[in-house]
Amino acid sequence: MSAPLAALPRPAAPEESASGALAPRDLTPEEFDRRHLWHPYDSPRAPAPVHRIARAEGIMLHLADGGRMIDAMSSWWCAIHGHAHPAIRQAMHAQIERMPHVMFGGLTHDPAIELGRALVALLPPGLDRIFYSDSGSVAVEVALKMALQAQLARGERRRTGFATIRGGYHGDTWKAMSLCDPVTGMHGHFGSAIRVEHFLPAPPVDFHEVWPPDPAHNGLAEIEALFSRKAHEIAGFILEPVVQGAGGMRFYHPAYLRGLRDLCDRYGILLIFDEIATGFGRTGRMFAMDHVQVTPDILCLGKALTGGHITFAATIATGAVAESIASAAPGIFMHGPTFMGNPLACAAACASLALLGQGDWRKDVARIEAQLAEELAPARKIAGVADLRVLGAIGVIEMDHPVDTAKVHAAAPRIGVYLRPFGRLLYTMPPYVTGAKDLSRITSAMLALLGEGI
Ligand code: PMP
Repeated sequence: MSAPLAALPRPAAPEESASGALAPRDLTPEEFDRRHLWHPYDSPRAPAPVHRIARAEGIMLHLADGGRMIDAMSSWWCAIHGHAHPAIRQAMHAQIERMPHVMFGGLTHDPAIELGRALVALLPPGLDRIFYSDSGSVAVEVALKMALQAQLARGERRRTGFATIRGGYHGDTWKAMSLCDPVTGMHGHFGSAIRVEHFLPAPPVDFHEVWPPDPAHNGLAEIEALFSRKAHEIAGFILEPVVQGAGGMRFYHPAYLRGLRDLCDRYGILLIFDEIATGFGRTGRMFAMDHVQVTPDILCLGKALTGGHITFAATIATGAVAESIASAAPGIFMHGPTFMGNPLACAAACASLALLGQGDWRKDVARIEAQLAEELAPARKIAGVADLRVLGAIGVIEMDHPVDTAKVHAAAPRIGVYLRPFGRLLYTMPPYVTGAKDLSRITSAMLALLGEGI
C-alpha cells in the first residue's frame, strides 16, 4: 500500500518560488484547491469559494471543519438513495475485490451483463441495444453518432444535422454543447466553433395545463413547419422529455412528445430522449417518457444510474437503429471509450436498480412532491418570486432577477442546507430518502433565503 499523502516527507521550511509564492506542497488544502484546481463553470483567476467536504452519508454532507449540511441537490441530481448507501457500497466493495476494471473490447463480465438485463427489463419493449459509457455528455455524443451513422447507413447522406428545442441542456462536450440552449448554453462565446443546429421554441404548454389539440397552439405546428422544409438535413431530434433541467427547470406537457414522435416517424427523423436528469424516478415515474408511453429510437441515461456513487452512463437504441448501423459499411459503430462498461460502475448501478426495484421510491417521490408543493407555496407571495413549480422530487422557485448565488453559497453551513441555484432559479432536488423533517428544513431554508433577499 502506498503512504497516505499527508505522511509524505515535507521540507523543513516552506519553499518559496522566485515570485515569493509558496510552493504547492506548502499550501493549506483550501489554498491548494483555490490555486490549482478548476471547479465547474468558474474563474481560473478568482474562483468562487467552495465548502470542503470530508464525508457524505445519507442526505448529509459533513464539512471538514465539523459542520454539516443537507445535500438538497442530491449532488447534481444523482444521489437518489442518499450518499454512501450501504447496499451500493457493499456491491462496490465486493466488485473492487474481484475486478475494478477490465477493458470491454473483446472482453465482457457479469456486472455488465447483469446491468444490461436489469435495464432491458425496466425499459419499454424495443429499447434493448445498450452502449455503456463514462458520463452523461458522452452518452449524448454516442446517441448523436448512432443517429448519424444509422441515417448514413440508410443512404440518407444529407441528414447530418440535428434538431432540438430551446431551453434544453445536453452536456458540455462539443456536439452536446451545440444542442444546448443557444443563450444559456453560451454558444456565442465559442464563435464559429459551434455548428448551428435547428432550434425550435421551447414547448409552449406547461405540464399542468390542458393540452390544446390545435397544433397552432401546442407547438407541433412549428415542428412540422421545420420538418417540411428541412427534414432531408436532419438526422435526429434530441430533447429532455417533460423536464428541461439545467437549461431552465421547465416542466412541459407530455403530449408534446406524442406529437413529436408522430412527426419524426413521418419525416424519417430519429427521436432521441435525454433522460440523464429525469430517469430513475425523479419526475414521479420511473422515466419521464412514462408520463405518455412514447418510446424514442435512442435513449440516454446517466446521473442516478449508479445512485450517484460513481460516474456512468448508457445509450440505448432500438434494434432498428442498431440494424441500420450494421447494414452498411463500415458495419460497426464507431465509438469505444477506454472505461466502457467499467465493472465497478456496473456493480453500483445494479445495486441502485435493485433498491429502486424495492419500490419505495414511488411513495417517497409522491410524498416529497406533496410536501414541496405545500411548504414552498408561501414563496408565491414573496416579492421577487416570478413562479413556483413542483413536479415529482423537484421544487423550483423562479425569481424575476438573477439569484445571488454567492450569498446562497455562503449561507449554506449556517442554514445547514446545501443549495446551488443558477440563473433566476433557486431549486431543490433532494434524495428520495429525505424524511419529512429534513425536507421541511430544506423548504424553510429556501423561504428564509428569499426573506433575506437573494
Ligand atoms: N443531459 C442532461 C439532461 C443533463 O442534465 C446533464 C448533466 N447535468 C448531461 C446531459 C450531461 O451529463 P454529465 O454532466 O454527466 O456529462
